[in-house]
Amino acid sequence: MADVSDQHFDVVVVGAGLSGICAGYHLQTRCPGKTYTILEGRTEIGGTWDLFRYPGIRSDSDMFTMGFSFRSWKEAKAIADGPSILKYLHDTARENGIDRQIRFQHRVNSASWSSEDSLWTIDAVVGPEKRPARYTCRFLYFCSGYYDYASGYTPPFAGSENFQGRIVHPQHWPQDLDYRGKRVVVIGSGATAVTLVPAMAGKAAHVTMLQRSPSYVASLPAEDRIAKLIRWILPEATAHRTVRWKNILLGMYFYQLCRRTPGLAKRLLRRHIARELPPDFDIETHFTPRYNPWDQRVCVVPDADLFQAIKSGQVTVVTDHIANFTPQGILLKSGTELPADIIVTATGLKMLACGGIRIFVDGEALEPGGLLSYKGLMLGNVPNSAACVGYTNASWTLRADLSSKYVCRLINYMDRHGYKQCVPRNDGMHAGSQPLLGLTSGYVQRGVDLFPKQGTKAPWIFRQNYLYDVLALKFGRVNDGTLQFSKGESPVAAEIERPLHPAATRPTTVSP
Ligand SMILES: Cc1cc2nc3c(=O)[nH]c(=O)nc-3n(C[C@H](O)[C@H](O)[C@H](O)COP(=O)(O)OP(=O)(O)OC[C@H]3O[C@@H](n4cnc5c(N)ncnc54)[C@H](O)[C@@H]3O)c2cc1C
Repeated sequence: MADVSDQHFDVVVVGAGLSGICAGYHLQTRCPGKTYTILEGRTEIGGTWDLFRYPGIRSDSDMFTMGFSFRSWKEAKAIADGPSILKYLHDTARENGIDRQIRFQHRVNSASWSSEDSLWTIDAVVGPEKRPARYTCRFLYFCSGYYDYASGYTPPFAGSENFQGRIVHPQHWPQDLDYRGKRVVVIGSGATAVTLVPAMAGKAAHVTMLQRSPSYVASLPAEDRIAKLIRWILPEATAHRTVRWKNILLGMYFYQLCRRTPGLAKRLLRRHIARELPPDFDIETHFTPRYNPWDQRVCVVPDADLFQAIKSGQVTVVTDHIANFTPQGILLKSGTELPADIIVTATGLKMLACGGIRIFVDGEALEPGGLLSYKGLMLGNVPNSAACVGYTNASWTLRADLSSKYVCRLINYMDRHGYKQCVPRNDGMHAGSQPLLGLTSGYVQRGVDLFPKQGTKAPWIFRQNYLYDVLALKFGRVNDGTLQFSKGESPVAAEIERPLHPAATRPTTVSP
């Protein structure tokens, strides 16, 4: 029998990671009359930054943009280690009383919208005993990240059952793993691999980074000297804003340079790496990807730590294909065998949209993969809800922040006009099937079918551009003609999934 007391809120947020904490802060400061709760499946806050515990875990974005707009990042290092990020999240939640709004060990399984009642009903299971709990709310905000917490992605490796050492996935790092004096092979070339490899290098006997194909890697100073100077001169809040904008604009400049002049960007990145590595190092094979910069994320290494470890001889990079695992290591297609005591499969994440929650609108089950994303935030034809998705080409938090502020604007707008329902009505005219996250990386491609798509025109496009999003989400009209509102008497979701002519179906609307 479901527990039904104390279970109605104006807003339910799913997930107490970075995005959920950001949502909590904005809801309580911008919509102070509204009640909200955060339902979190795990026992702790922090999401990604609590889950991942592998050696060297750190950000690869600068913390002035990955930190919140409303709370300065005060540490010296701009590229910060996982425990410092987790502490920052805990401190933010505690100082602002957001932690008191979180209900831990609440795994949400399904969410059902009723147009008749203008209400979401959310079914969760609580604790290890999986006690059912039911919540209702007017607005549902998914801050549930983008990947499966249950397991990471490991492709099948022939012969893995024969390997006599230990096989470890970074998502489930065994805290008892002693790799001192051991030969380690890390399979992968992404952000996790380039973090793990130098972090293990000092202790392990030797670390081999085994990649099928290379990624772009760039070194940045862990400490930002300009930021240090700005923080020394200006008061804290002004310094935080100034450094944040400096980094936003620099990041956007680099991204645009890569997209508009890929040839130049490739040459610059290569020259930068050549400065860090010995003259005889084979950059062509090991650090020259076949794709253009920012077709996939450019991996950042702080203070060239990966290159230093290669130079010191503690790390070898091998670019080859795996034939099979052997009892002693890995046999490559070239015929070479890599001996190993430990194999780390830094082979990525399993993508998962909307926290794996089953979504129903008036009894009809909807697959996120079949929906169109509105402003990269709401889902076409799904009422009173939003899903927080961050940038892939900049810090996640920059967009999480804008998204939460937009959700608050929308809720306040509906209140002012007495609306109970809103829905981005997709009339089929700008439908599209472009992936929401436009990277060619394996983990993004594996999840393409699961995630909402983007269309061909605004507001159905996710532009991955902070300045554009500031204009669209902060200053753009809430009532833009696509987002439709109702006071409840003519439900906005009544004609779901049927292509409609907007003018013929629009319920009561007024300009903001
Ligand atoms: C190793 C790693 C390094 C990264 N480094 C960077 C970086 O440097 N810069 C950057 O911008 N981004 C980075 N990212 C992306 C990163 O995920 C985001 O920065 C950010 O942490 C995402 O926050 P989130 O709150 O949206 O999602 P998450 O951190 O994934 O948190 C989601 C929360 O929702 C909960 N949840 C999910 N489903 C349910 C459910 N059904 N019921 C209840 N609770 C649920 C989860 O338990 C979790 O606590 C990194 C990601 C990884 C994996």
